[in-house]
Amino acid sequence: MRINIHEDYLRSLMFGLQDGLVSTTGVVVGISTGIENKAIIVLAALVAVTVEATSMAAGQYSSEKAVHQMDKSGKHTDSLLTGATIMFVSYYIGGMFSVLPTVIFPQPLARYIAIISAFAGLLIVGYVKGRIVEHRPLRSAAELLIIGGLATVIGVIVGYFLKV
Ligand SMILES: [Zn+2]
Repeated sequence: MRINIHEDYLRSLMFGLQDGLVSTTGVVVGISTGIENKAIIVLAALVAVTVEATSMAAGQYSSEKAVHQMDKSGKHTDSLLTGATIMFVSYYIGGMFSVLPTVIFPQPLARYIAIISAFAGLLIVGYVKGRIVEHRPLRSAAELLIIGGLATVIGVIVGYFLKV
């Protein structure tokens, strides 16, 4: 199956999913290490995801606009608004991998499920990306797990150290 997607949309999609997965897991785990109240953890996670997804969409719009203004080759047929929307939605979806377990399960179990869920999400995103670009999906899955997993682990460690 050949999936056609403009390369700039693919970048938004990948960036949004990966960043949503990695940074939200860091936030969820960091907060749940310091606070026991589930409602506060869920609220903080949702605020973080929403603010971050909005900010990433704004950043996507502005940075892509700068690239479009400089590019004279005419290959940038992508819409800035669509790119920003893809960024917002994919960031949100990435974030849900760790937010949903936090909503469903009690702590501290939820924290561990959130991490496992995020790692599974990285594998899935890496695999699907490999399929889209038609280049070694399994290797792509492993690569994203390592890159995203490393960033997640660092976020989690920082969360533990900042525990109040
Ligand atoms: Zn573009």
